[in-house]
Amino acid sequence: MSKETLISHLRNIPDYPMEGVQFKDVTSWFMIPEDLNEIVDSIYEMYKDKGITKVCGIESRGFVVGAALAVKLGAGFIPIRKPGKLPYETVSLEYKKEYGKDRVEMHKDAITEDDVVLIHDDLLATGGTMLASYNLVQMFKPKKTYINFIIELYNLNGRDAFPKEVPIDSFISIDEFA
Ligand code: AMP
Repeated sequence: MSKETLISHLRNIPDYPMEGVQFKDVTSWFMIPEDLNEIVDSIYEMYKDKGITKVCGIESRGFVVGAALAVKLGAGFIPIRKPGKLPYETVSLEYKKEYGKDRVEMHKDAITEDDVVLIHDDLLATGGTMLASYNLVQMFKPKKTYINFIIELYNLNGRDAFPKEVPIDSFISIDEFA
């Protein structure tokens, strides 16, 4: 399946959840078996030779493809969650959002120094959520950390938020108004 065909199946919802946002609704992909399969297989191909031992998925849309990737890569799956959702002891990191603050959390035994980590989320916008998640994962001192998105809204320049040496790859790169 071509990327153009996939992009044509992606639902865009203007002004959701607030005015000015062009919301890319990835559930319009997840409900079509061929689309979901294409996304998981293509991202798997990008990382199959990297020795990934843990896939971290960011709540909640990052859980869907993140968990499928973990199975295909033979890796463990780690949820990165909003505050107060994880039952065991956690490590957490606070970060600034456009309005106010937020926090990401992981279980304190989620990653070891022997792990090679892939952090996955559905979409890169400004990069704030992923940068906080990346910094949280780095607190565990893994051997290496890769970052992946299904979609990157390149006109928002989210990847500029990250140090240059961080490997960031997205499956589909589009303008938010595409
Ligand atoms: P950011 O931290 O700005 O990169 O925002 C990324 C997070 O917010 C991801 O978990 C996305 O699911 C969600 N998000 C932000 N902007 C959009 C958008 N235009 N369409 C869909 N999801 C978005």
